[in-house]
Amino acid sequence: MFTKILIANRGEIACRVIKTARLLGVKTVAVYSDADRDALHVAMADEAVHIGAPAPRDSYLRGNKVIEAAVKTGAQAIHPGYGFLSENAEFCKLCADNNIVFIGPPIEAIEAMGSKSAAKTIMENAQVPLVPGYHGDDQNPEILRKTSDDMGYPVLLKAAAGGGGKGMRQVWSADEFDEALAAAKRESMNAFGDDKMLVEKYLTQPRHVELQVFCDSHGNAVYLFERDCSVQRRHQKVIEEAPAPGMTDELRANMGEAAVRAAQAINYQGAGTVEFLLDVDGSFYFMEMNTRLQVEHPVTEKITGQDLVEWQLRVAAGEKLPLQQNELRINGHSFEARIYAEDPANDFLPVTGTLNYLQPPMESEHVRVDTGVLQGDEVSVFYDPMIAKLIVWDEYRDRALNRLTTALAEYRISGMTTNTEFLYNLASCKPFRDADLDTGFIEKHHDAIFHTSNSDSDQYLPLAALYLVLKQDQQAQYQAHGSNDRYSPWSRPNAWRLNETHSHSLEIDLNGQSHSVTVEEHKGSRYKIRCGDHCVLASGELNGDELYADIDGFRQRITASEHDGQYTLFSAEQALHFSLVQPDLGDADGSDNAGGMTAPMNGTIVTLLTEVGTEVEADAPLLVMEAMKMEHTIRAPAAGKVTEFYYQPGDLVDGGSELVAFEVLG
Ligand code: ADP
Repeated sequence: MFTKILIANRGEIACRVIKTARLLGVKTVAVYSDADRDALHVAMADEAVHIGAPAPRDSYLRGNKVIEAAVKTGAQAIHPGYGFLSENAEFCKLCADNNIVFIGPPIEAIEAMGSKSAAKTIMENAQVPLVPGYHGDDQNPEILRKTSDDMGYPVLLKAAAGGGGKGMRQVWSADEFDEALAAAKRESMNAFGDDKMLVEKYLTQPRHVELQVFCDSHGNAVYLFERDCSVQRRHQKVIEEAPAPGMTDELRANMGEAAVRAAQAINYQGAGTVEFLLDVDGSFYFMEMNTRLQVEHPVTEKITGQDLVEWQLRVAAGEKLPLQQNELRINGHSFEARIYAEDPANDFLPVTGTLNYLQPPMESEHVRVDTGVLQGDEVSVFYDPMIAKLIVWDEYRDRALNRLTTALAEYRISGMTTNTEFLYNLASCKPFRDADLDTGFIEKHHDAIFHTSNSDSDQYLPLAALYLVLKQDQQAQYQAHGSNDRYSPWSRPNAWRLNETHSHSLEIDLNGQSHSVTVEEHKGSRYKIRCGDHCVLASGELNGDELYADIDGFRQRITASEHDGQYTLFSAEQALHFSLVQPDLGDADGSDNAGGMTAPMNGTIVTLLTEVGTEVEADAPLLVMEAMKMEHTIRAPAAGKVTEFYYQPGDLVDGGSELVAFEVLG
């Protein structure tokens, strides 16, 4: 076994590899870019070497720099993780030239699988079933078109050099063919610098079922069963599971043996994945082989009880596979959900931001969280926006699925839009429970997954309002204890009770929509909360960030987080994000200071900043009022003077009240 390895990657996969290396007593070297100076993988490794600027091409993709780091630190082997240099034959060669072991397959195997069309020829010879189609060298458009016409539509055009769903086009009829071919070629040329195409029969309801294989340098080869990765958005996996629902022993053995034949056909070593399309009639077809550890490998680890990174290190160090085929068993069922900083409602576009609040579910034998970030970290534009992988296990699929939905609800993130709610809705919907899977799952069940209804706001607004009111009371009490400022609104324990009826109006922004909510205090710390026609009786208690809420008798325990005026309430099932709509008072930058002489909402006068009769410039601060915990400065609309202040510090004012008499000069 090696004594020291370098991990040429970042984020969760780097952390994942370091964990196993540590268990095996192998020292680790991390590499990092400027953006990752404080990253978790750097902190976890025994040593770390800086390799460049944030953009991957200036750091994690610089093979030479990575090799230099390995030589400098005396690392004997390099684990490439996935992505970056993991399937880069040139990098593999650089390792060999420098006497460093590449923890992955031989160069020739990477090269053989680098082109989808060359791979198909090899698989055809090894009697691995292929999707009907054309993968020849002659790229004459007439041949591509004729194959498609003969096969019948729909067909799928695929870039031979493709990956990540790029350079693929579905063609539904002959008259769409030319345009689709041109578009696929353009995309492929842009992404891969090569526009070679292959044509496949487009299966309309396939499942994506992939087989994990492992081979050593002693001629042993096994398959560690299958993963179903049918749930995809934009041809990228979202939730994976093992074993594949509905799989028979016979089909599993057939697919497993075909996968092993595929690996052996290219003298494979190490961990590999053979991806198949599984058609409704049980036929399966080779799609491609990934010559690396997959993102979704943990579900295989959970059902086999094996550590695949350990297997990789052993095989790379020249050891035999730890187990033979007949020693491998499936135990239970596992899911993986990929938690992304992305906006499902906006075509799953990645988002960036700071992880202001990050509380993953508790890990146990049932729940595993693979992540590379901590609270306070940035999700930047430079790297994949995956925040974590949530992996669950239980004895049966339905129980594992319950674990998944519970853990998703417990995954608490604020600071950016994430897909956790989408994943929760997906995992909870009936077709997913029923394992009615195919690669069109998300489109097919769009309505069930993307539901938001009015009842959502009826349910959540009172909770948001209750929290805001309790939060203000809490603040008032803190301030009353700690403050000597008799003018501070917080010195008044009743700070939020802003008028005689003890009622207060709030404008709450929930899901981008503004809602008016009124809160009236009743005896015994109960509140009547009204939003539109909907009215509830609520009570609650706020201890630190823990909210105990009772809304019309429905009790919940909720964790609250606040950052920059954005609030998040995490209930057992949902994360509720909202903010207060800020009154348009003419804010600090002075961009809008006209007409700001009235109180736009109920509040308290904090301080007066000028004197009656003193001439002031336009935009000069005149007074500060406070409303809902926020201070607002009222500024002079023009050069002039205040002729009267209608209120004094400490006075409560109703929304709409005139605050100042102001005379504009000259
Ligand atoms: P990439 O390498 O770009 O990820 P793949 O060949 O692995 O491309 O295919 C990605 C996904 O596209 C598959 O998981 C499947 O959902 C879909 N797909 C690929 N080939 C076909 C096909 N012939 N018919 C239907 N769907 C397909």
